Amino acid sequence: MEKKLAKYFNKLEDSRVQCFLCPHHCVIRDGSTGICRARQNIGGELYTLNYGEITSMALDPIEKKPLYRFYPGSMIFSVGTFGCNFKCSFCQNWSIAHDQPETLYVTPQGLVSKALELKASGNIGIAYTYNEPSIWYEYVYDCARLAREKGLLNVLVTNGYISPEPLEQLLPYTDAMNIDVKAYTLSFYSKICGGKLESVNATVEKCVKAGVHVELTTLVIPGLNDSLEEIEEMCRWISGLSEEIPLHLSRFFPNYRMLDRPPTPRSTLENARKIAQKYLKYVYLGNVW
Ligand code: SF4
Repeated sequence: MEKKLAKYFNKLEDSRVQCFLCPHHCVIRDGSTGICRARQNIGGELYTLNYGEITSMALDPIEKKPLYRFYPGSMIFSVGTFGCNFKCSFCQNWSIAHDQPETLYVTPQGLVSKALELKASGNIGIAYTYNEPSIWYEYVYDCARLAREKGLLNVLVTNGYISPEPLEQLLPYTDAMNIDVKAYTLSFYSKICGGKLESVNATVEKCVKAGVHVELTTLVIPGLNDSLEEIEEMCRWISGLSEEIPLHLSRFFPNYRMLDRPPTPRSTLENARKIAQKYLKYVYLGNVW
């Protein structure tokens, strides 16, 4: 494991550090890690623990990210590491986000070479996905710069929980993003994800204004974020940015620590789509077949 000095932290008294890569702004004692488990204070300096550490890689259809209006029909080399800065009890990728999976070390040059080799199979670039890429920041940044130099595209599939400054530095190398807007209430974000809705909204707004291709995903969970009023309020906000932003309304299935509620009824998703279509041109249902 290559421990690499992290970006975006300040040194405090008593060998503590404060990370400001994401809005948690963790204060971390010597020897401890932040909420994401991916950044550790070692002797009063902050280090990344997941630089180049890959848990999953696959050549996926771009629609699987999901991105439906960005090079449709193409493939994208998809990679992820471990850790997450949210604690969603319904996590669909908990084994890499919250567990200790096996990793394979790959340098940025190695990753970009592999992506270039895969062009013969229809690959257009690299998607940083499967777990939260913003807490893999230093590696994603190095790979994205190199990939851009080689004519590859960069895609982030993210929860949008990243501080403004690191986001601004990464956006010039980012071509497309799928950002989760997990709900449209402060309470859902604070109780279920352990985060703040306003920070995610700020990320979405910044990315759209920067001209990055943005699609949004909401996992609709029975009894938690499925009220039509909430969905309407969210769509009104999205349409204020652009009615061209695609929205994916995805079906929930019981998973990880959220086993106490049923899969989302199809009728709920269809009603949500009707509301969303009042505001947005492109609304898709996910996980339905
Ligand atoms: S990136 Fe990790 S260590 Fe840094 S503030 Fe966020 S959760 Fe804390």
